[in-house]
Amino acid sequence: MMLTLVALLAVVIYLSWRYAWWLPAQDYRAPRILMYHMISDAPEGAKFKGLRVSPGHFERQLQHLSHQGWRFVTMQELTDQIANGTLRQKTVALTFDDGYQDNVTNALPLLRQYNAKATLYLVVDRHDRDWSTYKKAHHNSGELAREPKLTDEQVKDMLASGLIELGGHTYTHANLLTADDASRQHEIASSRRTLEAQFETSVTSFAYPFGLYGEKDVVAAQAAGYRNAVTTIEGIEDQFGQRPFELRRVKVSGKDNLLAFKLKMRRGIRGVR
Ligand SMILES: [Zn+2]
Repeated sequence: MMLTLVALLAVVIYLSWRYAWWLPAQDYRAPRILMYHMISDAPEGAKFKGLRVSPGHFERQLQHLSHQGWRFVTMQELTDQIANGTLRQKTVALTFDDGYQDNVTNALPLLRQYNAKATLYLVVDRHDRDWSTYKKAHHNSGELAREPKLTDEQVKDMLASGLIELGGHTYTHANLLTADDASRQHEIASSRRTLEAQFETSVTSFAYPFGLYGEKDVVAAQAAGYRNAVTTIEGIEDQFGQRPFELRRVKVSGKDNLLAFKLKMRRGIRGVR
């Protein structure tokens, strides 16, 4: 009897720590910027499981957001609304990094179904690259290199939906912390002009590859004509106006169940920081 009680208590304490359900929601006037990569089921033996949200989970997340009255905006719209003071409560910006092919095959149909807007941070030179190795050399499974990326035609299809904003994510998914000034310029500024010319759209939102950046990259992104930039710092962005080039995002992981997702929408993270 005593043992059962102790065990039960241990479970309650563990779940309370893991999900921190008792903590209040962060102010709903702060927009939620959600970070996604792939919308697909993980293949056998996949390593980057956190980067893959299954289409079923993604649909339940969109359904939840839509039922709870969240309004979907692009990063460009969010920046405008912050600037002109028209931002409303419960605004959410979905973002997709890199340009995986499942973004058009799996994500776009669901985005259409829920009339949900999103921002796509596209790597210009994205085919057959294994950028997982640029950060840590031992990440050389080739999994991300083999993963099919969006073709230019597919990117155009996504833009034609009217739901997608195109954002910059450098030419090669560079590690900007190790870049010299010339390659920083190429990766941040030239890649923006290339995307604009290639897809005949304005590109004003940027994401630092791997979330790695320094002061020079912030300056370069601003000088290149971007109006906002997202990082991989986890959390809800409540200082958008003060740091438009170092925005926090809520990381949606393929390992999150719906409860974890709901808690991240409330607090930015799943459990206790
Ligand atoms: Zn990336």
